[in-house]
Amino acid sequence: MSEITVNLHECRHCAGLGTCKNGANESSCLACAKKNELHFWEYDNQDKRKGLMCGSCGGIGKAEPLTERMHNRIPVILAFTLVFGSMLIIFFAAYRDSKFFSELLTFASVIVGSVSGYYFSNKEK
Ligand SMILES: [Zn+2]
Ligand SMILES: [Zn+2]
Repeated sequence: MSEITVNLHECRHCAGLGTCKNGANESSCLACAKKNELHFWEYDNQDKRKGLMCGSCGGIGKAEPLTERMHNRIPVILAFTLVFGSMLIIFFAAYRDSKFFSELLTFASVIVGSVSGYYFSNKEK
């Protein structure tokens, strides 16, 4: 069982910590140092570079809502591709009078069901 909800993904950059530790000695990485508006002469300062807010998720440890908006397009495209792809397969199988038609129908309805389930549960809230 995963504790991550549908809408909140653990931040890849900070592993859900909200604090960037991707630099040397658990310090924050350069990208996050820039996001935290550190001056360039402070980049090598280990004290200043430590425990900085993760620039990818804004320090909340979850990739929402900042990245969610960008990543939302990929599942949508994927969902429509899957749905239309499986529909095409069904139509093709029906047209060809395939003996696997019932299996394909079950397979496709599972895909369509899970995709629309994921998509609509994601959209709610
Ligand atoms: Zn993060
Ligand atoms: Zn970082």
